Amino acid sequence: MAIERTFSIVKPDAVAKNLIGAIYGRFESAGLKIVAAKMVHLSREQAEGFYAEHSERPFFKALVDFMTSGPVMVQVLEGEDAIRRNREIMGATNPAEALAGTLRADYADSIDENAVHGSDAPASAAREIAYFFSDEELCPRTR
Ligand code: GDP
Ligand code: MG
Repeated sequence: MAIERTFSIVKPDAVAKNLIGAIYGRFESAGLKIVAAKMVHLSREQAEGFYAEHSERPFFKALVDFMTSGPVMVQVLEGEDAIRRNREIMGATNPAEALAGTLRADYADSIDENAVHGSDAPASAAREIAYFFSDEELCPRTR
């Protein structure tokens, strides 16, 4: 299995609940390495561009309102099978359907405010990483 990179967000609800460290701990315990990270308060333009694939969905305005409601942590995770494994750590989009022990089961309140984002495929991971980070900001973890 190849080493992959995936893009992750700790969403405004989880930042407000002081869960950044707890969530980073889950990534690290699973062997995923953080190779870039920063805190940002998204503008509406940034949030709309990031979620452009959902622009025709009925929940799009609520999603943009939520994602711009407070600061988020954005990070790039690296490891074997990182894209699929991060989705496993996150759990289902709707926390009511997320498996016990996943981030969304433990920390999310609703499908609208569900604690974390993670890329769903190699193409989206590449697009989402480039949306927030330049190549120089990605730090190889060779030690
Ligand atoms: P994800 O990849 O698991 O985050 O899910 P999607 O890509 O399908 O949707 C993106 C985000 O939009 C989700 O994480 C939710 O925050 C929100 N979302 C998705 N489906 C719904 C829905 O049916 N209702 C509402 N209110 N929000 C939704
Ligand atoms: Mg998605």
